[in-house]
Amino acid sequence: MFDTHCHLDLTDFDEDRDQVILRAKNTGFDYFMIPGIELDSINKIISITEKYKEIYFASGIHPNNAADLIAEWDNCVIENSKYEKCKAIGEIGLDYYREYCPHDVQREVFGRQLEIASDLELPVIIHCRNAYEDLWPMLSDWLKGGHCRTGVFHAFDETSVEAMAAVELGMKIGMGGPYTYKKKNERRIEIIQLVPIESILLETDCPYLSPIPHRGERNEPSYAALTLAKIAEIKGISYEEADKQTTENGLAFFGIF
Ligand SMILES: [Zn+2]
Repeated sequence: MFDTHCHLDLTDFDEDRDQVILRAKNTGFDYFMIPGIELDSINKIISITEKYKEIYFASGIHPNNAADLIAEWDNCVIENSKYEKCKAIGEIGLDYYREYCPHDVQREVFGRQLEIASDLELPVIIHCRNAYEDLWPMLSDWLKGGHCRTGVFHAFDETSVEAMAAVELGMKIGMGGPYTYKKKNERRIEIIQLVPIESILLETDCPYLSPIPHRGERNEPSYAALTLAKIAEIKGISYEEADKQTTENGLAFFGIF
């Protein structure tokens, strides 16, 4: 299995990071992706990826951290992407749910990071919250603008219509804990049904968004097995098949061989 979106660098894991990673490995996880959210955390992320050969990372600035950036921030994103284990630009996007940064600044920082990704020929990890109407025109224009441009909609939270529009342009759909929720979840069940297994990436977004029955607790990569089981169940395929396919998807998407 491949947890394609886990914030293992956050302080939530400082006390027991090694055990968390060991539990994930014992559950069958062979690969992990830590998305970047700010410039300051790069040294910590690098040291984690140096310790564990199966952990990769992405360089980027989260929309909630896009206010008051230093002048040379974009060069820092580029510099941080030059490490061998950096496999994407992310997580980038727009977040109009938490008002941490003016919308026009978010769009500017997002647009610049899309440019960086195409210059470096890296995929993007997209964060989109209450901002689809502004984000999709920017992202779809970018996707159509070059052959090697691709991305994953992390913690996808729109409807199956938007999911299929993204898949048609070659995007992957990131599925995590909310896809296991039991109540009022028809929208996500339909997304699992319609999106081809080849376009699905498994993720946790840990320490956030724990799957059932851990909702409300700290999330960790091993719990993504519960989300995978749900995907297999809805798709009517075996757990092993869902594991094999989503792992291959992740490796191909991030260019890990
Ligand atoms: Zn995230």
